[in-house]
Amino acid sequence: MIVVKRVLAHSRSGECTLQALSTRKTRRRRGLIRWKRFHHLGMGVEYPEKVRWKCVRCTMCCQDTSMRKRCIRLLDEEISGIRAETGLKAEDFSIPFTHSPPYTHEMRKLDGRCVFLKDGLCSIYDARPITCVFYPFFLNRIDQELYRFELTPEKCVGLGIGHEVSEKQFVRLFNLATRRLKSEDDTEGT
Ligand code: SF4
Ligand code: SF4
Repeated sequence: MIVVKRVLAHSRSGECTLQALSTRKTRRRRGLIRWKRFHHLGMGVEYPEKVRWKCVRCTMCCQDTSMRKRCIRLLDEEISGIRAETGLKAEDFSIPFTHSPPYTHEMRKLDGRCVFLKDGLCSIYDARPITCVFYPFFLNRIDQELYRFELTPEKCVGLGIGHEVSEKQFVRLFNLATRRLKSEDDTEGT
């Protein structure tokens, strides 16, 4: 649990999955959200209540937009997973990114689009980073004991349609984050 807290503590500075909500519009939107909470691995985790979402594959989250540059951060374990999946070298698809640990790289883009976006689809879907898996949410650290799944500031067009995102889904996302981050810690120790 200590490990999880330590690595998640780094997450606050991210601006993609873990992006700070900055626009006035987004702050207004946050004010309307009611948060529900579950406890897991000794921590509280909040998530927005009654949010409906379905990915309509618009690919907005895989590329830069007029609102902001998309930064797709990568953990070392994710780099290894993508290399195993594609046979590529790390430098073929990523750029070192050292000022927001535990992330070590960001994804390369071509013409503002992720290098793995092919014909409107993710070509490494099963190996995609948590930055992508979490979208349109990101995990924000509120304090030592509390984390919160918030909505990214740019409005994903899939919000408001589809099924309500359940607590079970947020637990699964939180488990994925802790597994990947725990793995980073194990790697550091070997
Ligand atoms: S922006 Fe939203 S709807 Fe579009 S691809 Fe990303 S998650 Fe799916
Ligand atoms: S890894 Fe896949 S899901 Fe993530 S930005 Fe690239 S194409 Fe999109």
